[in-house]
Amino acid sequence: MSPSFSTRTARRDAAVRAAVVRGLLDPVASPVAAFVDLTGIGESAQALRAAWPAGLDVLHAFAAKANPLVPVLAALRSHGLGCEVSSPGELAQARAAGFAPARIVLDSPVKTRAELASALAEGIAVNVDNLEELARVDDLVAELGTRMPEPRIGLRLNPQVGLGGIEAVSTAGRTTKFGIALADPGNRERLLTAYRARPWLRWVHVHVGSQGVPLELNAGGVGAAVSFAREVNRSRPGQVVGIDLGGGLAVLGDDDADGDHRDHGPSFADHVAVLRRAVPELLDGSFRLVTEYGRAVMARNGFVAARVEYTKTSGGRRIALTHAGAQLAARSAYAPEAWPLRVLAHDSEGRPSGAAPEVQDVAGPCCFSGDLLARERLLPRLSAGDLVVVPDTGAYYFSAPYHYNSLPMPPVYGFVPEAEGAVRFTILRDAETLDEVVVRSGGGHRDPGRGASPGNP
Ligand SMILES: *Cc1c(COP(=O)(O)O)cnc(C)c1O
Repeated sequence: MSPSFSTRTARRDAAVRAAVVRGLLDPVASPVAAFVDLTGIGESAQALRAAWPAGLDVLHAFAAKANPLVPVLAALRSHGLGCEVSSPGELAQARAAGFAPARIVLDSPVKTRAELASALAEGIAVNVDNLEELARVDDLVAELGTRMPEPRIGLRLNPQVGLGGIEAVSTAGRTTKFGIALADPGNRERLLTAYRARPWLRWVHVHVGSQGVPLELNAGGVGAAVSFAREVNRSRPGQVVGIDLGGGLAVLGDDDADGDHRDHGPSFADHVAVLRRAVPELLDGSFRLVTEYGRAVMARNGFVAARVEYTKTSGGRRIALTHAGAQLAARSAYAPEAWPLRVLAHDSEGRPSGAAPEVQDVAGPCCFSGDLLARERLLPRLSAGDLVVVPDTGAYYFSAPYHYNSLPMPPVYGFVPEAEGAVRFTILRDAETLDEVVVRSGGGHRDPGRGASPGNP
């Protein structure tokens, strides 16, 4: 591969230019599309695996919610990762991507009995969220008996170590909805009793939260899980064999920056270094491990590109009206302070724009005023026909579209650089057609009086 493609930035710029040449960002037919850096996926998976000490038994189960596109999951599988799923849809996506049951971990606070039964029967790892769910698993374990493959069942603990910077994605506050609250009165004893009574309960699960959780807070939660596991093992040696430490490595700053490590956010190796200091027993080989990173694996490996359709000035404010907005970036539209996005200006040919910088807003196509990708941002002056590029959107953005205003989902292309300047594209998700939009809107049931009557005798 040419050295000019050695950075994500260089690959992204080449892909934007090539996508224009190839007609993938046609102003009329396809004014918005998303792109996945397939080379970057390999690099991220490699960095993740290399960060953990060789010789440890670690399953890196990618959190599917961060990017559940089946070809993305399949690429991650081919690079040696497993898959963490939290819904029937994500489990179906993981299966479609070819993950073996032994490489899948099922989390979710609201699993049905049927979901639990099939997961246990297949040998998928299950993390139990609460004591009522545990009672249900008791019944299923008794029913399945020896038909159950070697079970990998854990309880999700809430270590109650505190919230990160974004409450909505913090999961270890005192009253957070996830897991069993370790420090609530009586719970530690209750949990120890639960493990003592169930020799098949051999894992401990914790996930402290996502973006906004500092490494030290994360390590505090993982440490609480490990010390609980060791307490179980003191009375029943060897019972807890594994720790699932969740995900939550933040993606911060600017991967294009040349500056120090703060500009790029923490790496997987930084996380391991903090864990090694705070929780040495995690890495001493006495436990098997599962990790559940999502954002840190995929965020940098995707971007959105969209045409500017019009520009205007309103009350002195310059606004570029583009085809990318809340349908692809719901969190950033509704909570812009918590979820800021970078926006890059490219000209109509796809090259980085050389226009003079100007303060402007970058708006999306949805019919509410908050549908903005950037407010009062200093950017090269955007004109109709230009492109806006939104980097670092490979996790939790275009792969989790929002159906407001019934905007069709844009196509997603994977790309790989070939020779100097050339880029090969493959389709990862087709553009949604308007017929498909109608179908997902109940289009098959046009006559409400005459439709089928589910549940009626
Ligand atoms: C969301 C989630 C993850 C992944 O979080 P990231 O911030 O994307 O790494 C992992 N485990 C569980 C249980 C989750 O809910």
